[in-house]
Amino acid sequence: MGKLSGKVALVTGAGRGIGKAVATRLAEDGAKVAINYRSSAADAEKLVAELRERGAEAVAFQADVSDPAQTGRLVDQTVSEFGTLDILVSNAGIEHFGPLESITPEDFDRVFSVNTRGQLFAVQQAARHLGAGGRIVLTSSVSATRSVFHHTLYAASKGAINSMVLNLAAELGQRGITINAIAPGGTVTDMADTHGISYKHPLLNASLSEWEKMHGALGRLARPEEIAAVTAFLVSDDASYITGRTIEADGGFF
Ligand code: NAP
Repeated sequence: MGKLSGKVALVTGAGRGIGKAVATRLAEDGAKVAINYRSSAADAEKLVAELRERGAEAVAFQADVSDPAQTGRLVDQTVSEFGTLDILVSNAGIEHFGPLESITPEDFDRVFSVNTRGQLFAVQQAARHLGAGGRIVLTSSVSATRSVFHHTLYAASKGAINSMVLNLAAELGQRGITINAIAPGGTVTDMADTHGISYKHPLLNASLSEWEKMHGALGRLARPEEIAAVTAFLVSDDASYITGRTIEADGGFF
C-alpha cells in the first residue's frame, strides 16, 4: 500500500517535464492519476501506457488550462473516470524573457492566462469536488522571489501564485483542504533547455554551467524527480499541517 493508495490526482501539463515526473511519482505512491496535456498527446498517452504496465490506474485528458471552461471539463472528466478527486497538482506553465520595451499586452495575457489565471481557475474547478483531506499544489518558481534580468513578466506571473496560496489557504482550510505552492529552481526539462541560458546576466562572462555553480549551493540543476518528491510530500498525510506556503526546492539558489 502506497502513501496515496485510494487517492485520485489530477496533474496539469503532465505529458513531459516536471509534470510527468509528478504524475509518475504520485502513481508510484498509489494514486490514480489523470494526466493533462495541451499539445503533447503522444507523450501523455505513452506515459499512461507505461504507468498502466506498472499496475497503476492512469488516463490522459487534453485541455488548455488557459481556458477555464476546458479546465472545468478536465476536472469533470477526471471525476467521471475515477469517481472523485482528492489531489490537484497545477503544474502547467510557460516561460517568458524580454526587456520592458518588448513586452506586449498579448505577451502579458498569454503568460498570465496560463501561469496565473489558469492556476486560479484550476483551483476553483477542483475545489467543487475536493473534500476534507483534499490537497492542492500550485507551481510557482524561485523566480518569484529573485531578481533576474529581463524576467519581469514570468516572475510576476509566478509571484501571484505565492500570494494566491497564502490567501486561498484560509478559505479552503475551513473545508479541511490544504493548498501550497512549490517553487522549483532550475530543473532539467525542455523549459530549462530552451531558456536556462537567459537566467545568466548578459554582461556575465561565464558559461551556463559555471553560472549554475556560482548561484546554487548544490551547484547543479534539479532532476524533475527531485521536484516531484517534494510535491509527493505536500499531497501526503505527512503534510497535513502545512498550508498557505510556498516551498522552495531550489538547491540553495542565491
Ligand atoms: P516544460 O518542460 O516547458 O513543460 C511545460 C508543460 O506545461 C508541458 O507539459 C505543457 O503541455 C504544459 N502546458 C503549457 N501550457 C499549457 C496549457 N495552456 N494548458 C495545459 N498545459 C500546458 O516545463 P517544466 O520545466 O516541466 O515546467 C513545469 C512547471 O514548473 C511550470 O509551471 C514552470 O513554470 C515551473 N518551473 C520550471 C522550472 C524549470 O527550471 N524547469 C523552474 C521553476 C518553475 P504540452 O506539452 O502538452 O503543451
